[in-house]
Amino acid sequence: MPPILPDDLQLLPKVDLHRHLEGCLRLPTIIDLAARANAELPGWTPEDLAPHAQVLEPLSSLEEALGRFGIAQRSFRDYEAVRRITLEAVEDLDADNVRLAELRYSPDFLCSPAGLDWDGAFEAILQGVDDARGLDVAVGLIAIASRDLGGSSARRTVEWAVRHAGDLVGFDIAGPELGYPPALYSNLVRPIHEAGLGLTTHYGESGPAEYPLAAMEALRTSRLGHGVSVAHDANVEAIAIERGVALEMCPTSNVRTRAVPRVEEHPARRLLRQGAKVTINTDNPGLFGIRLTHELELARDRIGFDYEDLRRATGNALEASFLPEQVKDGVRARHFGWVGSQP
Ligand SMILES: [Zn+2]
Repeated sequence: MPPILPDDLQLLPKVDLHRHLEGCLRLPTIIDLAARANAELPGWTPEDLAPHAQVLEPLSSLEEALGRFGIAQRSFRDYEAVRRITLEAVEDLDADNVRLAELRYSPDFLCSPAGLDWDGAFEAILQGVDDARGLDVAVGLIAIASRDLGGSSARRTVEWAVRHAGDLVGFDIAGPELGYPPALYSNLVRPIHEAGLGLTTHYGESGPAEYPLAAMEALRTSRLGHGVSVAHDANVEAIAIERGVALEMCPTSNVRTRAVPRVEEHPARRLLRQGAKVTINTDNPGLFGIRLTHELELARDRIGFDYEDLRRATGNALEASFLPEQVKDGVRARHFGWVGSQP
């Protein structure tokens, strides 16, 4: 007998593989940190700040949505702020019954406004995760090279990530996509593979299907951030399925950055049922004002997932997570009996 799943998806233990630390901030925390620093803000209540610090409606493009990160980015004012934001990110995961999560951030993007030291900021993040250890959320950390910060920033991020490979689970390439084809990064990611780090790359969000195809072939990416345009080309779709490349799909984000025109047209269900390793994630819960429960509700109520689809997407996420197998086995045993054995 398959387990009976609750109608209230909040009650379901969940997995989020695609969540940016810089996109996790609570509005009251942004306000509190700015007040303590005597800094400027365009609004001093959550209601007044929201239009400036969040993306609550579809924007014209991914690039416009990325521009809304400025206020969150400036909140990483000192190491204590970094620790607090990380701790609160894990508290929010726990409150939404997310039991395994990978948090990703771009050291250059996060550290630049306040001139923080990359190692110091990472120590503060590790401290924030450690401060949340009583919450029973398994957390893996992913370092991001931001495409728009240029080649030398990307190379520095790779060197840094390799040096910290013991405390990271993976590496990502993110930011504006158009004009940054995967071929630019084929040499860059070699040390990441050699260091044994998992590789996920933001491709197929605003770029054509050739980009995720090249990310699979030239970069040997094992996961694609969004990967929506995989659905635009039957050949690319077949390759993603054959290689078992996980697609980190994020319905609200994909609508608000115009990766899909309407959530009902999201290809997640079709791809999943065709055998693609679709997963459902938040991308930026603070920026978009959402939780993972909300994304699974969208999948169920607007994209047409049934419980078997939800089960399979969660099983895919557990399988594709870069966390060590023994950690995943423990999390499975404690929380994911409802997922059952792997599809
Ligand atoms: Zn993302």
